[in-house]
Amino acid sequence: EDPVELANRKPDPYRHILVALDFTPHSSHALALARALELVRLHDSKLSLIHAVENSFYPDLGYDPLMIDPGEFAELDQQIHDQAVLRMEQLAKSLDYADVQHDVLWGTPKSAVLSYAEAQKVDLIVVGSHGRHGIAKLLGSTAVAIVHSARCDVFVVRLAE
Ligand code: AMP
Repeated sequence: EDPVELANRKPDPYRHILVALDFTPHSSHALALARALELVRLHDSKLSLIHAVENSFYPDLGYDPLMIDPGEFAELDQQIHDQAVLRMEQLAKSLDYADVQHDVLWGTPKSAVLSYAEAQKVDLIVVGSHGRHGIAKLLGSTAVAIVHSARCDVFVVRLAE
């Protein structure tokens, strides 16, 4: 086909945009969210807000009487998850956009975002350039992993150092 004709053809609008929110204390996720909101309005698409919570890693030190019981880690993780669910609900409600769904998933941000994106037929993923895992880097490990493995378009919002 003629590349000029192809380039001039209007691409399909994005129908489902996912934004991966890490809820860092300095609220840098707001920038990625602002961009995602702009894009969903432009394309009239569905918006998904996703946050991933990882299980704490703890070595098997059950024999050490000074160590915390592993069950307490699980409880802490559950509290963190519950907090994130509340935060997500408030955030989704506060947005001036109706077609929003949100989810807090267990797992690494990479696997949570990628599997959600495939299952929910997301056609654009919006991530921040770096967060907790990549403060000192140009591109965080989550952003790199998602760009690498996503089967759809990825929009990386450059966050300030
Ligand atoms: P990082 O890899 O931690 O530097 O984060 C880069 C970007 O990945 C962030 O700006 C978020 O868009 C996304 N991300 C990181 N951690 C999470 C998380 N726990 N849940 C959802 N998205 C995340």
